[in-house]
Amino acid sequence: MTNEEKIKLLDKYIKESDNIVFFGGAGVSTESGLKDFRSKDGLYNEKYKYSPEKIISHSFFRNNPKEFYRFYIDKLNCLNIEPNICHKYLTKLENANKLKAIITQNIDGLHQKAGSKNVLELHGTVYENYCTKCNKKYPAEYIFNKKNIPTCSCGNIIKPSIVLYEEPLDENIIEETIKYIAKADLLIVAGTSLTVYPACSFIRFFQGKHLIIINKDLTPMDNIADLVINDKIGNVFSKLTDY
Ligand code: ZN
Repeated sequence: MTNEEKIKLLDKYIKESDNIVFFGGAGVSTESGLKDFRSKDGLYNEKYKYSPEKIISHSFFRNNPKEFYRFYIDKLNCLNIEPNICHKYLTKLENANKLKAIITQNIDGLHQKAGSKNVLELHGTVYENYCTKCNKKYPAEYIFNKKNIPTCSCGNIIKPSIVLYEEPLDENIIEETIKYIAKADLLIVAGTSLTVYPACSFIRFFQGKHLIIINKDLTPMDNIADLVINDKIGNVFSKLTDY
């Protein structure tokens, strides 16, 4: 099957379903122009002595908050990033009562910015930040406009509500994720390599009609998918019927 034919088939599956769940990874955001913070650029090696996985970890945040925030403010600022065609399409599907949930590994809030309501953020969001002592809440602007470690009016360090490496995922969100995937009849997985635990394990709860994987590269779950589309997400979503 050509990609064109596969996209037509996906369009048909979407038309037939009113119980769709979308599961998205970094690839959904990169097409909005957001750099995957793990990707290596020339500057990266000069600017940071540690790997992104090391910096965005719980122990690093505690032991080296200054360097953590230097990286965080530099690499994860998404305030001026806009939703792309994929985010917007999913919002329309939700409004048409066809899409039940969006499960995302991204922390940039772009689905909500596009107007989507039921978004499960497995790795948290940069839009919520709280004082590690008194719990006072702070908006993302407060963090990203700082040059140094953001501190609360009480004097203590503020932490973004994102799941750092070494930290567990929120159990309620895991439960909701599994519930939606297990009940869906069409599951669209996009922009994720499905190599990161536990993302890949969630997909195994799917027992509906069609599992679709849209990704530039191959994934280890391709063999259990009904349809694998190796294309840019924007290319695929721009060809689907509008709702
Ligand atoms: Zn405080």
